[in-house]
Amino acid sequence: MATNAPLIMRIMALSINTAKRAGVIIRDVLKQGDLGIVDKGKNDPQTEADRSAQRCIIASLAKKFPSIKIIGEEGGSDLNVCDDWLVGEQDEAFLKQDCPADWKDAQPEDFVIWVDPLDGTAEFTQGFVEHVTVLIGIAVKNSAVGGIIHQPFYKQSSGELGRTIWGLKGLGTGGFTAVKPPANEFIITTTRSHSNALHQKAVDVFNASKVLKVGGAGFKVLQLLEGKAHAYVFATPGCKKWDTCAPEAVLEASGGTLTNINGDHYEYHENVEHVNRRGVLASSGENHQELVEKIPVEVRQAVGATQT
Ligand code: AMP
Ligand code: MG
Ligand code: MG
Repeated sequence: MATNAPLIMRIMALSINTAKRAGVIIRDVLKQGDLGIVDKGKNDPQTEADRSAQRCIIASLAKKFPSIKIIGEEGGSDLNVCDDWLVGEQDEAFLKQDCPADWKDAQPEDFVIWVDPLDGTAEFTQGFVEHVTVLIGIAVKNSAVGGIIHQPFYKQSSGELGRTIWGLKGLGTGGFTAVKPPANEFIITTTRSHSNALHQKAVDVFNASKVLKVGGAGFKVLQLLEGKAHAYVFATPGCKKWDTCAPEAVLEASGGTLTNINGDHYEYHENVEHVNRRGVLASSGENHQELVEKIPVEVRQAVGATQT
């Protein structure tokens, strides 16, 4: 069954186990204590955990799927990794499901895999480890279709550390229980480390009952999926395709929407610009277009015209 499953099912099933392995690497780096922080830019740190997790993920996926384009946040990594970091086992429970008809015939050249080995690095270095996620996004012919969001530091009720959420459009989601946000409130989830005056203007216009400032695109989309927030607002360039591909796929597989602040979906082909120049607006409900229309015109005009 496993080896005959459609390619997208095998990519998802290997990505689930690879994200879990990357999560162990991230926990190990924190435990060992020396984060090896390098600044890639303003408010843009990289640690040994980002580098090692990316090597594990890309080496594992590239070994099994050598002709598929994989783009990772940390650039070209050395893929000669120890056997212990090479994941070959696919998640068998995932593979038992039926592949949605739309993706059954997708060929290697139709895919781009977008990898953010550690989303929320700033928060990781500051001790807010529950904001950290491992993101593996699977694009087919330009669109975010499948995604894995792994939380290495999530505490399960069993005491086990870590959980893995997946979503595939047309199939659904797994690894968590979807919850609707409270009907009598409007809660926004947004950045805690990349705000500016223009972004604040966009947040203010919603007159939210609460604004949750948390790290990472993955963690913010989890807030939507678990009913802790109604909308994710990020009205500034700065996040990249590897930040949004997996979250978009998981959210949309669950009935939500993730677009830029104009309400348009991003493209995910291999030659696309990495920066999401027109910000992010995401919601779990059915009123996404109403939210888009609330963004002030001056914010809409300025975001995208500016550099990061
Ligand atoms: P945040 O919402 O600030 O936690 O950001 C979500 C993701 O986008 C994280 O991976 C950030 O590193 C990235 N990001 C957002 N804004 C910027 C920026 N101005 N420069 C670099 N990375 C950014
Ligand atoms: Mg990120
Ligand atoms: Mg990252």
